[in-house]
Amino acid sequence: MPSSKILSTSFDIKGDYPCPVCRIGKISQMPMMEAMGCDFCHEIFTVNPEQQQIKMPSRQPPLTWRWNGFNWTEAQLEGVELGWGYVLAAISFVLLPTTLIGIVAYYFPPSVNAPITWIPYIWTILTFLSHLSIIGWIFIEVYQIPVVAYLRAINRWRTGVMGR
Ligand SMILES: [Zn+2]
Repeated sequence: MPSSKILSTSFDIKGDYPCPVCRIGKISQMPMMEAMGCDFCHEIFTVNPEQQQIKMPSRQPPLTWRWNGFNWTEAQLEGVELGWGYVLAAISFVLLPTTLIGIVAYYFPPSVNAPITWIPYIWTILTFLSHLSIIGWIFIEVYQIPVVAYLRAINRWRTGVMGR
């Protein structure tokens, strides 16, 4: 009996599913293995049918996704939870120093005769940008694999097209 992939709501290793990493390829079972591979970015996933989960072991801690019947729910780092505390910490890490320096620059402006009156303002902007880039770097570090795998796959696809 043919099973309909569109209506299927439970995750089965024998089916085809969208790849949660590149969101372009399809993941399907690898021959002779209890694992699934993506035909586009070539990431390999281990399968946990009881919990409807797949895990990408190529990074530590491993990334896991859960099948909700229609698609994969957000990648999750085991043992790391990006809760509101982290978001608030990230926001205050960017905003607090910027605000402090901005306030200082506003209330203690250099004398009008000073040759470099714009320094405090540039300094405020630099503080904001540097702290923002640190947060951005941490974010990319945490979600590094999807970004890297995506770029790698695009590159492979491009060289493949060129080679034809
Ligand atoms: Zn993929």
